[in-house]
Amino acid sequence: MSSDQSFQRALQRAFTHALAHLSSAETAPVNATTGLAELRARFGKPLPESGTDAAEVIDDLVRDAEGGLLGCNGGRFFGWVIGGTLPAALAADWLVSTWDQNAAIHACGPAEAVIEEIAGAWLKDLFGLPQTASFAFVTGTQMAHVTCLAAARHRLLARAGWDVEEHGLTGAPPIRVLTSSERHGSVERAVRMLGLGKRAIAALPCDGSGRLEPDVLARALDVAPSQPIIVVLHAGDLNIGAFDPFAELIPLARRHGAWVHVDGAFGLWAAASPKHRHLLRGVDGADSWTNDGHKWLNTPFDCGYAFVADPQAHRSAFSHRASYTQFVDDARDQIEWNPEWSRRGRGVPTYAALRQLGRAGVAELIERCCAHAHTLVMRIGSLPGAQVMWEPVINQGLVRFFDPRPGATDEDHDRRTDDIAARITASGEAFFAGTTWRSQRCMRVSVCNWQTSSSDVDRAVAAAQRALDRG
Ligand SMILES: *Cc1c(COP(=O)(O)O)cnc(C)c1O
Repeated sequence: MSSDQSFQRALQRAFTHALAHLSSAETAPVNATTGLAELRARFGKPLPESGTDAAEVIDDLVRDAEGGLLGCNGGRFFGWVIGGTLPAALAADWLVSTWDQNAAIHACGPAEAVIEEIAGAWLKDLFGLPQTASFAFVTGTQMAHVTCLAAARHRLLARAGWDVEEHGLTGAPPIRVLTSSERHGSVERAVRMLGLGKRAIAALPCDGSGRLEPDVLARALDVAPSQPIIVVLHAGDLNIGAFDPFAELIPLARRHGAWVHVDGAFGLWAAASPKHRHLLRGVDGADSWTNDGHKWLNTPFDCGYAFVADPQAHRSAFSHRASYTQFVDDARDQIEWNPEWSRRGRGVPTYAALRQLGRAGVAELIERCCAHAHTLVMRIGSLPGAQVMWEPVINQGLVRFFDPRPGATDEDHDRRTDDIAARITASGEAFFAGTTWRSQRCMRVSVCNWQTSSSDVDRAVAAAQRALDRG
């Protein structure tokens, strides 16, 4: 078989399977129905001695994955904070694999380098960030934190007369990281990876709306005023989508010489909506920001963004010019801004998604998801035996279920909450995950999928009703 025929047969099989998968989103269960042992048995063939026809490999993959895929690309998936994928973004992602460019430097893939340059500028525009900020397309907010905090580490230590890229951290002035109790675990992991150590983190208490209060931050900043400090704020925390009061906190932190980093994994998208933009007032005054394309913009995994107000600090942390690489004057080489060396053309699906939606389409997507989240939480939360724990301000809300037995304790209600969420998910009708919020178990409701419709919301509410009816 010629290589043309081999590509054609394999890609045609993949295309047929992909369409079947996408169009089953309406009817297929949203949960996994095949267990761990079964999946291992199916995929765990001995490493073959001889090869298999490419098209057959694809057919086998799809057959063996049956029941082991979640319905996150449909409208009834509300677990964690996970988006689907827009048609243009998915198709563009296929092309990225087809083109197979190494998006490390401009010379290895000129078109992709330029696409990334443009997509980065568009994102800054949508988020209302300074156009002079530098950026990197990384795997997700986790690596965006690493990227931004590496820039922070550079700048803060340079100000203290320490060259961290040259000398490392041994002997360097210790950096403190002030953040809120509602931080995502990826902040801690970034701090660990950068060698700052978990103990550098001081988790400050939040107010009743999940926001860090200015006087709490002011007191923490005053503890060791001469020490270099990173302040990590939130544009949409993971449970309730809370926004810190940036307009007050950022100037305060900067007066103390702190670097302000904003975890905006999904919440930064509020900037694209005239209705929700006010939540981000003052956010543009920070030093760095993160966001994910693979959540609310609905690009395929993996796709995250790092933005840094101080391009020189950003570049100093990553720049590397090896003797065998080629540089083109004036072009943007991704390796100057990215932690990776070889990498896929991650900017392409973002570029395609933004072109498919346009500015108005992004605003509409954000507002629609928020409206559905509100309806979903309020309707499930008003069922007998349920309670709204957090009414969505954006696309995140919380519901708790109560054990009806007389004398039921908090632990009983915790168990009941996990049990009802598990029953709804096991029905295959809607997918929810649990969380612990203020020491209580809750069912988290997150709407990030561009396909979620009113009828998906109806189906999810009906599934919750049935789960409760079972006693
Ligand atoms: C999802 C999320 C992260 C981690 O992002 P990844 O893209 O999974 O690396 C960090 N912070 C918040 C608030 C998140 O929602």
